Amino acid sequence: MPNENYNNIFANLAKASASNLKEILLTTDQKLHDALLAASRATALKQFGNKIYIRGLIEFTNHCKNDCYYCGIRCSNNKATRYRLSKEEILSCCQNGYDLGFRTFVLQGGEDPFFTDEVMVDIISAIKKLHPNCALTLSIGERSLKSYKAMFSAGADRYLLRHETANAKHYSLLHPEKLSLANRLDCLNNLKEIGYQTGTGFMVGSPFQTIDNLLEDLLFIKKFEPQMIGIGPFISHHDTPFRDKTSGTLQQTLRLIAMLRLMLPKALIPATTALGTIDPCGREQGILAGANVVMPNLSPIVVRSKYSLYDNKICTGEEAAECINCLKMRMQKIGYEIVVDRGDYRE
Ligand code: SAH
Repeated sequence: MPNENYNNIFANLAKASASNLKEILLTTDQKLHDALLAASRATALKQFGNKIYIRGLIEFTNHCKNDCYYCGIRCSNNKATRYRLSKEEILSCCQNGYDLGFRTFVLQGGEDPFFTDEVMVDIISAIKKLHPNCALTLSIGERSLKSYKAMFSAGADRYLLRHETANAKHYSLLHPEKLSLANRLDCLNNLKEIGYQTGTGFMVGSPFQTIDNLLEDLLFIKKFEPQMIGIGPFISHHDTPFRDKTSGTLQQTLRLIAMLRLMLPKALIPATTALGTIDPCGREQGILAGANVVMPNLSPIVVRSKYSLYDNKICTGEEAAECINCLKMRMQKIGYEIVVDRGDYRE
């Protein structure tokens, strides 16, 4: 790709041909990589200024009925110490978060049959009653249309469900036979149809992932037009079948964040904890590559290390207040500012 055409292509990345996208994914030209990140950062600055949205992550259960090969809380991992937070504990995390300036709470967990629609509706209603000015995001996997509707009616605003990979063959290499890409996509379509601000995404460098898979991920996300896009490097967990698989890289994750920012300028894109885990300044670099969200942990310290999706996860020993202060400083150092805001998607 000739130099002078970089910026032109970056500015129109949503319309770029598959072969141009692939060329960018594959390039070893450091100048092109740097120019891509600079263009993406400029786009994020234009959309959001130097403001960074925060989401308070509450990891409320690590029980899971699924057996995803990459995940540390898969049901076959009998070394995992299981826990679930009570409604009161969840509400207390929210209150703590509210006092620290959070206006979005994210309830994330394994697919835990204990949390039936009835139980979820009760928790969601209670959170929304106590914090009517806050957004509530769910990240609890695949459920029925009826379930998604009930939780939306109870007040849930957003839903995160990474598609994990847009290639069905690749999907089958990461998941047991019971789980299918088709069902995951049905769920995503249902969520969007119901009216949730919907997030999807994938792991970068997951086992067996090819460049063509990543290209399919980009094209899928462009077509689906989610309001939120979560990507982070795959990191192996020592008690999973993928214990010996190589982790995703910082460089490739940053490149994909940048490409997604340019393709969907308004999307809410977090610099994920996984990115902060593979590099001490991973989250800062994610922001500088075009991300505009961070998701500090509000879970009680006693459960932090038990929500172990991958090895060496950061922030497992810190109080929420320490976590947010550390992030505030990190963002300030690179010229950004954490704001008290729901941080909704803007058309
Ligand atoms: N049960 C919910 C939440 C899953 S945890 C659901 O099914 O959506 C959130 C995300 O963590 C997953 O979507 C996956 O992309 C990511 N994740 C899981 N294991 C990981 C690993 N070993 N390395 C990096 N990310 C991982």
